[in-house]
Amino acid sequence: MTAHFTLPKWYDLHVHFRQGEPIADYIDAHYQMGCCGALAMPNTQPPVARVSGENTEDYWTIEGYLKTLNSAGADKFDDLIVPLYLTPDTTPDMIKVGVEAGLLRTAKYYPPHGTTNSEHGADLKTYMDNGVFAAMEEHGVILNIHGEEHGLSGENYFGADTNAEDYFYKNNMPKLISAFPNLKIVCEHITTKTAVNFVNSASANVAATITPQHLMFTVADLLQGLKYHLYCLPLVKFEQDKQALLKAATSSDNSKFFAGTDSAPHAVKATQCGCAAGCFTGGIAPQLYAAAFDLNENNFEAFKNFLCLNGPAFYGLKVSTETFTLTKTPSNPSVQGNATPLHIGLGLEQLDWTLAL
Ligand SMILES: [Zn+2]
Repeated sequence: MTAHFTLPKWYDLHVHFRQGEPIADYIDAHYQMGCCGALAMPNTQPPVARVSGENTEDYWTIEGYLKTLNSAGADKFDDLIVPLYLTPDTTPDMIKVGVEAGLLRTAKYYPPHGTTNSEHGADLKTYMDNGVFAAMEEHGVILNIHGEEHGLSGENYFGADTNAEDYFYKNNMPKLISAFPNLKIVCEHITTKTAVNFVNSASANVAATITPQHLMFTVADLLQGLKYHLYCLPLVKFEQDKQALLKAATSSDNSKFFAGTDSAPHAVKATQCGCAAGCFTGGIAPQLYAAAFDLNENNFEAFKNFLCLNGPAFYGLKVSTETFTLTKTPSNPSVQGNATPLHIGLGLEQLDWTLAL
């Protein structure tokens, strides 16, 4: 009998919809893959670095970006969260006023120069010392963290025994959680065994998102044939890291790990002088997660927790009463707008699973 599963619609708690005309296609791709909501990342150009008022040339506002997204189709979602992009200009007062206005729910830490459009960030210590994290803790604003150390030498950035994420979770995160024990933190797109161990040993205030690509692939898959559609930050890592992520995601008693695709559309992925970071998984993420889990009757509960329940529980979002289905029959992914889905980019023709609303 063909395996067939019905699930509540889910929230993608880490996605890049970016800006400009194709945004409606990207939002629709998420809607078509059963999403009832999303956390839309603020590293747009310019960044979403203020809370209220109109967008300006230097920065956008949460209020303005929400309007942009809603008018491009995101109003179909049950809920939509836009984090505030933390910059050296973020103040404790902005946090307080933003919460009181009902606009500010989470804020995103980017290491300076860590990933696409992250050059506006400052190091972690800035916000530990200037009262911003204290204000977030006091007002219940969740911190979304891109956990990679910036400015490392090559061998420390990606070595056999350490890397930028490993360094960050060993050296920075313990200080952060001991200074702000009541701050709720989502460790975004974790990729290493070190990060899994950190999240498991931290309090219930600390959770993590995991992408489909980090559950499915390692750096060997990226390098063999230089499959640049798999180039994302943090980089895919080693087999033991992938196994630690799979164990975390598939443990039925573990509520700390949930879906956040980090889906990032790029019209042009590789250029003459480099490669844009980010895998586009709009339209295909549940199918990829199901493949990573090798979804079956025995791990269905764990899969449902990971994809549909753990994230809303951590964020206090309502679980959708609408459903979608996954059936184990092959399907063909399609290009969404101008962005090539990861599966096509890797030369894998068919998906193992078919999704229907
Ligand atoms: Zn991201």
